[in-house]
Amino acid sequence: MEKEKIVVLGAGVGGLAAGYFLARTGKYAVTVLEKEAVIGGLCASFEHDGFVLDYGAHKLYSVIPGVLDEALDLMGDRLIRLPKKNRLYLEGKLVDYPLKLGNLASALGPWRFLQIGFGYGIELLKGIFNHQAPRSYEEYIIRRFGRPTYELVFEPLADKVWGQPASLHPEMARTRLPASGGMELVLKLLGLKKETADTNAEFFYYPQAGFGDWPQALAEGIQAHGGQVLTGVDVRGLQMDAGRVRAVHSAVNGKAQDFDCDYLVSSLPLPLLGRMVFGDSDAEFNRAVTGLQFRHLVLVYVWVKRSLVMQDQWVFFPQRNVVFSRLFEQKQMNPQLGPADRTVITADFTAAEGSALWQTSDADLVQQVVSGLVKTGFVQADEVEGSLVIRKPNFYPRYDLEYAEKMKLVSDKLRQVPNLLTTGRIGMYNYNNSDHCADMGRFIAEQLAAGETAPDIWQALERRVAEYKIVD
Ligand SMILES: Cc1cc2nc3c(=O)[nH]c(=O)nc-3n(C[C@H](O)[C@H](O)[C@H](O)COP(=O)(O)OP(=O)(O)OC[C@H]3O[C@@H](n4cnc5c(N)ncnc54)[C@H](O)[C@@H]3O)c2cc1C
Repeated sequence: MEKEKIVVLGAGVGGLAAGYFLARTGKYAVTVLEKEAVIGGLCASFEHDGFVLDYGAHKLYSVIPGVLDEALDLMGDRLIRLPKKNRLYLEGKLVDYPLKLGNLASALGPWRFLQIGFGYGIELLKGIFNHQAPRSYEEYIIRRFGRPTYELVFEPLADKVWGQPASLHPEMARTRLPASGGMELVLKLLGLKKETADTNAEFFYYPQAGFGDWPQALAEGIQAHGGQVLTGVDVRGLQMDAGRVRAVHSAVNGKAQDFDCDYLVSSLPLPLLGRMVFGDSDAEFNRAVTGLQFRHLVLVYVWVKRSLVMQDQWVFFPQRNVVFSRLFEQKQMNPQLGPADRTVITADFTAAEGSALWQTSDADLVQQVVSGLVKTGFVQADEVEGSLVIRKPNFYPRYDLEYAEKMKLVSDKLRQVPNLLTTGRIGMYNYNNSDHCADMGRFIAEQLAAGETAPDIWQALERRVAEYKIVD
């Protein structure tokens, strides 16, 4: 029987996982199209000045049943298992993350610690009378941790990552933080109840050759099942016929090329896909899809003349006097990823379109990062011997207070195309990790192979995605 043709747009983990699980069913001829010369998207690794580097700290971990098993089956001993070591830099000290009360007490001193306990107590009392759902990220966190902890840790960190936390949807907090009830949280903070695997990973997997070996293995899996992954294919438009997608228009080395399809699975940014499907025909849809907000990602890599700098794989920095929100040391994942006598520290942070930070020159960004590294005592200025700045636009979905209505309008409309599905972080406009991308791909493949229609799968996938959590 002839296989149905499925074209997948984008070869990040979102697109590749969909391609892999679809090809594995044996029912579909899968072609993945990627505009860059390399695959992997934000989960790729690259080589620079003697090091294999990732796009910031990436661990492979999942609490979704079966996802880690799939990765282990696919990659076997290409994956190493590492104990997780990450902390938060607070008031000049490194404290456990997720937060623990005992640890906070020694870092902050008795007076600040009492304030935190008092603030938390007030929220517990208020909670007895207030049963309304929180209306923003700010309200969500204050109710769970109290205002002093919010102002000390969550507000500045969220401001750095997404900007203006008071104007963020509470969903942003639900995805990013354990949804424990008040008493459970107190017990955990006091150390009387352990964090669970759902809230804090004690270990994780990492591909020995760099995180990019994970998308690489997915691509090999696609090829092993008769599919193809094509790079250098810039997808420019779609041929629509009677409401269905019939073909994908692309440019390959500047020359036009079309790919016919029975189904299309897109991991491209939703605004880009929306434009390809509807053009300017629907003003309300256009307003909604272009109104979905994103933040740009900035990565500053700093070469240091020392074999290792940190004791953790990565450290979060809420305070406002340093530009970065996280530092990551690549060699903590695998010392073989660089030479013995040097190391690379990766600082990551985000910026809004048009902001002063986004317009800052690369040289100034490096200078700000190095100054932060020196100020926090991680590195001495004369140890720095090189740098690299990478900017990845529009990678952080930012859930503003109206995002749910906008998303509903967008997906209601796109779901009318009966052979179209979307997947991945930007494709679903969902703040998620690569294990969630793998789960989406697996779900799409299983449902499609079982004969479900694309619009039904889309709706079921949205419900599934709404339950995803980022596990620290
Ligand atoms: C700092 C940081 C830390 C992270 N930490 C973790 C972690 O610890 N663990 C984890 O699992 N995840 C982590 N993530 C999240 C992870 O990176 C994402 O979930 C994942 O990369 C999303 O994959 P994707 O395929 O949806 O998107 P992308 O990786 O963005 O892939 C989309 C692909 O589409 C291609 N494309 C775009 N336009 C076109 C076009 N017109 N034609 C053809 N191709 C096109 C792009 O080139 C790209 O390759 C982290 C992310 C960041 C930024």
